[in-house]
Amino acid sequence: MKEFYNPNRESWKELLKRPTVSLSEIRKVVQPIMDQVLESGDEALKEYTHKFDGVAIENLVVSTKEIEKAGDELNKALKTAIEVAHKNITVFHEAQKLKPLKIETMEGVVCERKSIGIPKVGLYIPGGSAPLFSTVLMLAIPAKIAGCREIVLCSPPDKQGNLHPAILYAAQISGITKIIKVGGAQAIAAMAYGTETVPKVDKIFGPGNQYVTAAKQLASLEAVAIDMPAGPSEVLVYADEGADPAFIAADLLSQAEHGVDSQVVFVTTSDVKLPELQKEIYTQLRELPRWEIAERCLQNSLVIILKNEEEAIELINEYAPEHLIFLCKNAREMADKIDNAGSIFLGYFTPESAGDYASGTNHTLPTNGAARAYSGVSLDSFVKNITYQEITEKGLQNLGPHVEEMAAAEMLQAHKNAVSVRLKSIKKKRS
Ligand code: NAD
Repeated sequence: MKEFYNPNRESWKELLKRPTVSLSEIRKVVQPIMDQVLESGDEALKEYTHKFDGVAIENLVVSTKEIEKAGDELNKALKTAIEVAHKNITVFHEAQKLKPLKIETMEGVVCERKSIGIPKVGLYIPGGSAPLFSTVLMLAIPAKIAGCREIVLCSPPDKQGNLHPAILYAAQISGITKIIKVGGAQAIAAMAYGTETVPKVDKIFGPGNQYVTAAKQLASLEAVAIDMPAGPSEVLVYADEGADPAFIAADLLSQAEHGVDSQVVFVTTSDVKLPELQKEIYTQLRELPRWEIAERCLQNSLVIILKNEEEAIELINEYAPEHLIFLCKNAREMADKIDNAGSIFLGYFTPESAGDYASGTNHTLPTNGAARAYSGVSLDSFVKNITYQEITEKGLQNLGPHVEEMAAAEMLQAHKNAVSVRLKSIKKKRS
């Protein structure tokens, strides 16, 4: 990790750039894939699965039998863990349900708002370098709570043409039955346009690598909504001198192992012993099965030492990290000053991994600075709010003249007339 001591503000923008390839570069790769899926549907999905995932697949759909027997292939401890996570994520997302709103804004004029589940949603579950079955829970649980009627799940198959049984088990206990073995930009195109086996959906959710993220952004230019740009994972850890270097190292590595295009940033203002931390990072790194990925990621990663907490807060808000960990005594106080972050982890004993898997919050979060304007996935992401209004005769007599006045001023005569004809009719009836 490269170290920067008191970098001046003018250099922050450059310093905090993510190691991602620009959208225009990735678009050149992704656009032809999407066009091909639009043109030849399932046939293109099979071709790209062969090309990118290295497996020839006859039937893209996972059978009900495969889903049902997935649990038998998992050990009891893992099944229990998935069930605990399922419960906590359900509790947290159930609590996000909004009550319908109904209010009389003036006598006889009633306005309402009600949340409705988006009817058809597509869930992307990354699987290129690790089968992220936890993402199944993070997306399927809120989709079900929201009342989405049709839910399709896509994930890339392994070299044997299968999805990991934990992905299937997590889907099964979340009530997902339509599962397709396809990944990458081709999966996003399939859900955006529809193919013979993949239904076209209204909104696509889920994280993925740069190809997946670019495909989602391209698809969103056409007739499909997306949750947000949730690309390569990142974490910013802030620590004070009370933080155990082993904890800091473990938290940094937990993101570094995601992918070579991930980024981890360490920020401090105090006397954290950096040589001790660097040593701890490399000691822990050597023990990781995915050490090669983590090591390459660390090459893109930063240690930034700043003068004081105020400067640290400013830098964090500028970076807008997906995950932000405060390993410090005044974690809550620091967090209260943060405007830009996907999810915040408070205190020495709150590792990001807890939120990644099982505490209850959602792990699908905005990356690459998108936390400046986007929230992570939540129940809200799966619903839309329809508004309603009902006006009585008395209500229209109260409100109508004002609407007529405004419509006339905007020179929209037909708008005015829609009120005037009714007011005349009420007047006639009452005379
Ligand atoms: P993935 O499923 O996102 O991507 C695998 C697919 O990428 C393959 O099936 C293939 O179709 C496509 N692909 C690979 N090489 C390609 C190429 N050269 N050209 C075109 N397509 C190609 O799985 P992954 O690669 O393991 O990435 C998962 C990503 O998800 C990681 O970057 C991780 O950091 C990120 N992630 C983000 C969040 C979040 O909330 N932001 C959460 C979890 C994971």
